[in-house]
Amino acid sequence: MDTRMVLLDRDNLKEEQFAEAAELLRNGELVAFPTETVYGLGGNALDPGASAKIYAAKGRPSDNPLIVHICDTAALPVLAKNIPESAWKLAERFWPGPMTMILEKQDIVPKETTGGLNTIAIRMPSDEIAAMLIKVSGLYIAAPSANASGRPSTTKASHVWEDLHGRIAMILDGGSVQIGLESTIIDLTGEKPLILRPGYITLEDIRDILPDAEFDPAVLRRERNDNIVAKAPGMKYRHYAPKGELTVFEGDLSDVVEAVRREAARKQAEGYKTAILASEETKDRYPGFIVLSVGKREDEEGIAACLFDTLREFDHMGAEYIFGECFRSDGVGQAVMNRLMKAAGYHIVYAGPKSRAKK
Ligand code: AMP
Ligand code: MG
Repeated sequence: MDTRMVLLDRDNLKEEQFAEAAELLRNGELVAFPTETVYGLGGNALDPGASAKIYAAKGRPSDNPLIVHICDTAALPVLAKNIPESAWKLAERFWPGPMTMILEKQDIVPKETTGGLNTIAIRMPSDEIAAMLIKVSGLYIAAPSANASGRPSTTKASHVWEDLHGRIAMILDGGSVQIGLESTIIDLTGEKPLILRPGYITLEDIRDILPDAEFDPAVLRRERNDNIVAKAPGMKYRHYAPKGELTVFEGDLSDVVEAVRREAARKQAEGYKTAILASEETKDRYPGFIVLSVGKREDEEGIAACLFDTLREFDHMGAEYIFGECFRSDGVGQAVMNRLMKAAGYHIVYAGPKSRAKK
């Protein structure tokens, strides 16, 4: 299949520009589009055939449900039932925006879209291109991140092309996304509101509206533990990973820099293509190595915006081993470190004095 790349000018968006993409979606085809979080791979959420195409194009396991994107809260009772008051409160505060709610699904939503579950994930994106596409198509659009399954999510149209060209009908190119990490997912079907995936909207933000909200235990784990059941099925898979083997060091920054330098030197001496994931503050402390910086350490939003692009850059340079620093884990850093730990397959090493003493 030929994939058409359509460049859109954000300063000059008109509904007519979406007619063709909307027609493709209504005909059961797939269209990738930017949202404020990451690029999405869209298909008609009520068409089981379109959902099947999404799974096939991404190589995604069929038990990993899709998020359904809407442009009007009127869609909520069409797609979900037994909607609690908390859902309306969250919608009022965070939509349109990077927040996804899990609710009980209505019968019109095919199980193909929800990975066989009786619940549905719903989000109203704020990105203007996403909103216009949903509106002009007149559909509810199922859209997981527009990457090949397991790879870092896509934050630019060129990433989508890299992973999915030849497999989907169209890519709407709206430039780099704003946030760069996927939406915060909050499950409202249990006794307490549970965050299944951290994102730009933090636990503290959610607690402003729902004081009893908590992280699902699977979010907080620090190591691979297959005994903890992930309620968001997608979170159980290896994810966001560059092709090279990534190890992340934590501890005091000076210990981290030393450990990264030592381990990178070792792999480089063994003849492997080795690279370092660093920050603006530390990037000059690795002379003789290939170093990519994700930004200033205190700028968590900047790091969020660069992270997936940087992980892909390591692939472009053919890095076989990557050694990385860890970053702050408060605020948006919760989501940054969650993605980085998954990208490293939970290969996190403490770089403090104790680890040196052991050797
Ligand atoms: P993606 O759009 O690629 O970021 O993937 C969507 C994420 O939402 C995955 O981690 C899914 O497991 C999660 N998700 C979607 N629907 C549900 C649901 N009904 N219950 C729990 N998690 C869900
Ligand atoms: Mg994804």
